[in-house]
Amino acid sequence: MKVGLKQKVSQYIDAGFPILYINSFEDEKIDSMIREIGEQKEIVEWNRARGLVEFDTKVALLSTLSELTDALDLYLERDELERKIIVLKDIHSYINAPEIVARLKIIVNLINQGVDATVIIVSTVIDIPPELEKYITILETDYLSKEDIKDLIMHFIREYEFPKIEESLLEEFAVAFKGLSEFEICNLLGLAYTDDGELTRKDLGLIFEQKQQMIKKSGILEMIPLKESLDDIGGLENLKAWLKRKAKVFKNIGAAERFGVDMPKGVLVAGVPGCGKSLSAKAIACLFEVPLLRLDMGRLMGKYVGESEANMRKAISLAEAISPCVLWIDELEKAFAGIGAEGGGAEVTTRLFGNFLTWLQEKTSPAFVVATANDILKLPPELLRKGRFDEIFYIGLPKAAERKRIFEIHLKKRRPNDLDKINISQLVDKTEGFSGADIEGVVKDGVETAFAADRASVTTQDIEQAIRETNSLMELMGDSLKELMKEYEKRKYKNSSL
Ligand code: ADP
Repeated sequence: MKVGLKQKVSQYIDAGFPILYINSFEDEKIDSMIREIGEQKEIVEWNRARGLVEFDTKVALLSTLSELTDALDLYLERDELERKIIVLKDIHSYINAPEIVARLKIIVNLINQGVDATVIIVSTVIDIPPELEKYITILETDYLSKEDIKDLIMHFIREYEFPKIEESLLEEFAVAFKGLSEFEICNLLGLAYTDDGELTRKDLGLIFEQKQQMIKKSGILEMIPLKESLDDIGGLENLKAWLKRKAKVFKNIGAAERFGVDMPKGVLVAGVPGCGKSLSAKAIACLFEVPLLRLDMGRLMGKYVGESEANMRKAISLAEAISPCVLWIDELEKAFAGIGAEGGGAEVTTRLFGNFLTWLQEKTSPAFVVATANDILKLPPELLRKGRFDEIFYIGLPKAAERKRIFEIHLKKRRPNDLDKINISQLVDKTEGFSGADIEGVVKDGVETAFAADRASVTTQDIEQAIRETNSLMELMGDSLKELMKEYEKRKYKNSSL
């Protein structure tokens, strides 16, 4: 069972944790939570707009206390601090100032010496001065469950006396609303009703737009538009067959689980660059008929201690909230570079990695993870153990039959009418050691050559010329490519190709 935010905050307060940092956009909801938890205590609030205010009414206490330092000065004595909850809002641009840090430290010390008080920072941004790190606990807001959302919709319908909706539509809305806050859900319901006075299937579009906004706001995940399908991938038939089987389970998870089949967890696709790893991630989402979220590992790594882990948690809960979805972790090895090494940076990655592994292992939500990596040798062995991913595939350079399909796919995209006239097997023979991206490149160049020469169609020779002018991946990577392939074979990862 997931422990809710309210329960957590209440436990931390009872246990004497000095500073709780709640990362949230929902001031109102957090306020009412604090009100309930802090019944027996005096709650004061400092916010940027009004300074020190009375918590319930938000009326300024004293006009002279608009400065945060002055407000904190009131609570630097044991007696003044006793039985208080100090709520600080929008202080992320102040919190690093030495005069604020110094005051918060005094308060922390008093609490650690047994004064019954708590500082609760509510902010949309995580910004923690290093001096305070070990006293601060970061908490994220909960996402509503499907049942909670259903109740919320029903409540809304009753309250505004709107026409009732069918159970199946209610279910669809509840799934679509997953991941949005109560406030956002109510706003969208209001919007959906104002256009035609009822909640219909077409209002689902509104929700989708809102989710995209939410993902953009998070800054860590990116929603990738789905343009590619399995048919856009040349070769990789083993991988495709495996994915089709998982798709069947994923799309019929109710029946599958009743039958005794597990929820698909995810797949790790490793292999040489330009051979269809990203393409596969996109095609998987299309095959599973769910949105594709790309996790940007670079953006996830924050500059404050604790921030990277908080970002990871946020990305995971966002993906879970938006599930069913495909969560694509691109260039996985980049995130885990330095694991096990000495120094602070390595510590962060080790912790980050621990969170990720635990989540992957225990995950039951329909968020299918597709991790892609160029260099599996840089990945820690724990990640490659059974039970983390459902399967590990490697992608090597395309074989002749695969190169033929890749040529066909890219020629068909650009020059469907020239396809029959081009001698593809001749091109296939000349492109041993070429990656999929190399092949796409020579097709592109060949087409451009024909256009530049004012010819009406593209010929085999145009593409051959481009082949001659290209350094294939094999040429560029040389022995390191062979080493990598040997390693994959040795480790007995599944070959994506037949
Ligand atoms: P990576 O393995 O580095 O993620 P990508 O999947 O991004 O490589 O491939 C780059 C481009 O090369 C793709 O967008 C696609 O156009 C082309 N390509 C690579 N492999 C294939 C393939 N097997 N079939 C068709 N096109 C491919």
